Amino acid sequence: MAKSHGGKELIFRVAIPAPLYRLFDYLAPLEPGPGPLLPGIRLEVPFGKGSKIAFLIAITHHSEFDNSKLKRIARILDDEPLLSVKDLRLLHWASSYYHHPIGEVFSAAFPVSLRQGKPAELHVEKCYVLTEEGQAIDSNRLNRAPKQKSVLEKFQSHAGRLSETELSLWNENWRPAVKALIDKQLLRIDQSGDAPADAGLLVRDSALQSNPHQQAAIAAVRESLDQFGVFLLEGVTGSGKTEVYMQIIRHVLERGQQVLVLLPEITLTPQLEERFRQRFAVTIAISHSKLTDGQRQNAWLSMQQGVCSILLGTRSALFTPLKKPGLIILDEEHDASFKQQEGFRFSTRDVAVVRGKLLNIPVLLGSATPSLESLHNVDQRRYRFLHLPERAGNATAPVLQLLDIRNKRMQEGLSEALIEDIRKTLARNEQVLLFLNRRGYAPTLICHGCGWVGRCRRCDANLVIHYDEGLLRCHHCGKEQPLIQRCPACKTGELTPLGMGTERVEKVLAALFPDRTVVRLDRDSTQRKGALEKYLQQISQGRVDIILGTQMLAKGHHFPNVTLVAILDVDSGLFSIDFHAAEKLAQMIVQVSGRAGRAEKPGKVIMQTRKPEHPLLTTLIRQGYSDFARTALAERKEASLPPFSYQALLRAQALDGKMPPLFLEAIGKLARQYSRGHIQILGPVPAPMTKRAGLYRYQLLFQSSKRQDLHGLLDTLMPEIEKLKQAKKVRWSLDIDPVDLY
Ligand code: ADP
Ligand code: ZN
Ligand code: ZN
Repeated sequence: MAKSHGGKELIFRVAIPAPLYRLFDYLAPLEPGPGPLLPGIRLEVPFGKGSKIAFLIAITHHSEFDNSKLKRIARILDDEPLLSVKDLRLLHWASSYYHHPIGEVFSAAFPVSLRQGKPAELHVEKCYVLTEEGQAIDSNRLNRAPKQKSVLEKFQSHAGRLSETELSLWNENWRPAVKALIDKQLLRIDQSGDAPADAGLLVRDSALQSNPHQQAAIAAVRESLDQFGVFLLEGVTGSGKTEVYMQIIRHVLERGQQVLVLLPEITLTPQLEERFRQRFAVTIAISHSKLTDGQRQNAWLSMQQGVCSILLGTRSALFTPLKKPGLIILDEEHDASFKQQEGFRFSTRDVAVVRGKLLNIPVLLGSATPSLESLHNVDQRRYRFLHLPERAGNATAPVLQLLDIRNKRMQEGLSEALIEDIRKTLARNEQVLLFLNRRGYAPTLICHGCGWVGRCRRCDANLVIHYDEGLLRCHHCGKEQPLIQRCPACKTGELTPLGMGTERVEKVLAALFPDRTVVRLDRDSTQRKGALEKYLQQISQGRVDIILGTQMLAKGHHFPNVTLVAILDVDSGLFSIDFHAAEKLAQMIVQVSGRAGRAEKPGKVIMQTRKPEHPLLTTLIRQGYSDFARTALAERKEASLPPFSYQALLRAQALDGKMPPLFLEAIGKLARQYSRGHIQILGPVPAPMTKRAGLYRYQLLFQSSKRQDLHGLLDTLMPEIEKLKQAKKVRWSLDIDPVDLY
């Protein structure tokens, strides 16, 4: 098969995962593959001194290189492509839209193990199920065997069935207890493999009686299944969005189709997963970065083969192939973690919409605080707007209040009025949630004698005090040093912590409320595997009085007994040079507020501020998020900022601080030459944090009111950049539709 009719050899054009824009030509392999050679199959090719796994793009008869210069494909890995023709088109689109090398785009679509060339085999996992006796038994009868009791309860709350992976993620030492429960005939090994116990059964527990707003939303999407359309579902936290998702999903399952549910963060998966398992009897696949490569490959293949009907995953699950695609849901669509911030910098939301269009299925975006982009798309009639204006059930919306702390006495970041409120709430046996988006003890260490400040030597940043660990740590490059006792400059002055971090507030709370339980939730306190789950469980069991944390708290968790929420330092978000900051702050405030009073009890939200007249805060509080968003959109329009214009940001960094501006200037010059249409070229300027991890960072911004003009320019410009001699002396990257201008 190595020869075609004319006696001329076939040329395999492949994409290689490397930061290179071009495709590579190879000669046909000596061993023919088992299947037809279709675009998308994986191939092993010699590359440089080693070999790489590449993806077939096309087979042709001509190469611009002489055949004698070409190497041969070493091996064909797949009988047939693992991605559908439409998904392959999606990858080509993404590569050209984001101006990112096609090989790296392909790579992003596959789980790591398949990228490495492992065979695309699905491994059926061992599962355990409750016996009838196990379903019926009261777990309190196992009080004397607490481990077994907690395993039993896990099964009972998890629809009676768990795989080995799920058990390991929950608790690494599950085996002895599971064995004991099997001996007691409360559990058994599930022989049904990966198929659901009852193949005909889709839904386990019944849906809630949906309210009229929910009904309207469900009906709108339901009527459009089988065709492309984007829906933006706006609903305050607790308004019943998840219930809407689940009822729509049910209809998709009844049609024998699959659903891809994308979430911003893994911390959200356990709670949602639990609710989905309660509701649906079909197998649910999970994919996020905390799973092993094998587990992720299994989730990917089970959707590709149609063994699973629902996939819950984070950003990286976006490209998972679907045998019978029916619906894509993106929950918390405004969330910044949907934007990939390194390598192939794509927007999960925007690519999901294009994917929905190619697959001809609906895309449902949900949020309590929709992004300005999506609201603008509603205004432009590109997305349909669905609204859940009230909280579901009997829950009432929390009351937002600004607490003016100017000239007020403060105890380590807490005003006396707030402390009094905390006291009253605790006295009613209700929970308090305090939000401070700063980890560590204090963000700055300063000398009282001479004014010396602990700075990171590699970054333009102060070192953060981590008191418990006895460390000073840079939050930008991770560099650590022991917490010093004496000023290195004047040798005599007393070193003082300046500012507040969660660790410091935790200590104040312990002193103020010695007989109360405080739990701190931030990246430091939840490092250990299972720690977050443990804390969340303690909170939901009412064993915690005060919850203190960073933005981790703003996301998705239900704390039904929390009736007081306080944002300790709202002002720090008010002053930023990035035009996205106002939107992000408003979203954060509303999301944090959403944690309060979700059940029957009304909640209150207090924001400590020294800027009580700030228009962002007053609009948000008096008129709500929608009006804030309207105002913010009007401002963006006035200033011709996105979504009323389109941006691309070229970043460059190097150890030698002279190189990035030289490189970017050269590009700016080229761009001005090539530029057709109306394009602003701004910079180069130093990045807001110019030095980071020892590298000097600069950026060049392109902006245009016409997307086509901008992309047309980039199409001509990008191939030239690689050729610039300065390009070898810097690390550079292009960010299309940047959301962070740092
Ligand atoms: P969201 O996803 O918008 O935060 P959820 O779907 O989680 O909202 O619903 C919030 C709470 O209200 C949940 O406890 C849910 O069971 C309940 N709920 C949702 N819809 C209804 C309904 N129609 N009737 C009664 N309770 C509901
Ligand atoms: Zn000093
Ligand atoms: Zn640093």
